[in-house]
Amino acid sequence: MRGLTISAHGGLDRLELRDDLPVPALESDTQVRVRILAAALNHLDLFVVGGLPNVHIVAPWIVGSDAMGTVDAVGSAVSGLGVGDRVLINPGLSDRTCAYCLEGEQPLCPRFGILGEHLPGTMTDYVVLPATNVRRVDDAADPVVGAAFTLSTLTAWRMLVSRARVQRGEHVLIWGIGGGVALACLQIAKLLGAFVTVTSSSDEKLARAVALGADETIDHRGVDVGREMRARTAKRGVDVVVDSVGEATWSQSLGALGRRGRLVTCGGTSGPMVTTDVRRLFWNQWSILGSTMGNDAEFDAIVEHFRAGRLHPPIDGVYPLDDARSAFERMASGRQFGKLVVRIGS
Ligand SMILES: [Zn+2]
Repeated sequence: MRGLTISAHGGLDRLELRDDLPVPALESDTQVRVRILAAALNHLDLFVVGGLPNVHIVAPWIVGSDAMGTVDAVGSAVSGLGVGDRVLINPGLSDRTCAYCLEGEQPLCPRFGILGEHLPGTMTDYVVLPATNVRRVDDAADPVVGAAFTLSTLTAWRMLVSRARVQRGEHVLIWGIGGGVALACLQIAKLLGAFVTVTSSSDEKLARAVALGADETIDHRGVDVGREMRARTAKRGVDVVVDSVGEATWSQSLGALGRRGRLVTCGGTSGPMVTTDVRRLFWNQWSILGSTMGNDAEFDAIVEHFRAGRLHPPIDGVYPLDDARSAFERMASGRQFGKLVVRIGS
């Protein structure tokens, strides 16, 4: 079996395509094996290659979290899935026995793990995972789009719908349009009926975001986005800020927030340490919301939107498995607008 692997952390030159990996077997009767048709990159993949604290890999470690494929083997206790079914994969795995899991809040599970980060990844020919982590879609569904869909959209859905509870007519500010989660947030915010401002340092990305429904844009180079948003809203500020940039943008995000505003984050790509003036936090009655991945109900919700064609990720480029490193280099450059997908099976 082929697989894009690393055997040690470091730069992208650590990525190695191997063709001598064993095909994984079902380890329980509640699992399925999926033959991967396409896999997609997330920023997480760059962190995995570079090394993450408290995450240990076993060499050769298969990278990749997102994928779409067809069911290839089915455990005897699995119902509703058969060999040949085309499926979307939720890369978040939990123990399904703790109090959070029983409450339906799998991303809070103490044993929560993500394919490619805590468990072998998806940039390979076959993946074994619990049947509860896959959902059937139409046989004609495009594997490139399906692979690009799940992690970003699931993350964005939980951020905006479950955590920030964006309402029709609210004003949402999204930093750094072009990445998978930011673009999914744009599409979901528009689906919810919000007014959306997006930022970028690229005029081309801002123009493309407008074509996808963004109401307003800010070129954030040399601009204090907080002040700019207050000026544009007659000092009122916005209702929700989506900030997964962290250190570089946090104070501007708070500057943009109106009273009762919510800042929602799923990461800190520029650095993790931020400062918040607690006086402004309580006086303005802000909420600072963390969010990660999504639960089963949220997975079901986004799969319904996928099936109906209402949510679909923009694709930046598609690469063959033997040139997957180029996709990683493009991700590292930050120049992409939309998802980078690696085609694996046919
Ligand atoms: Zn659990």
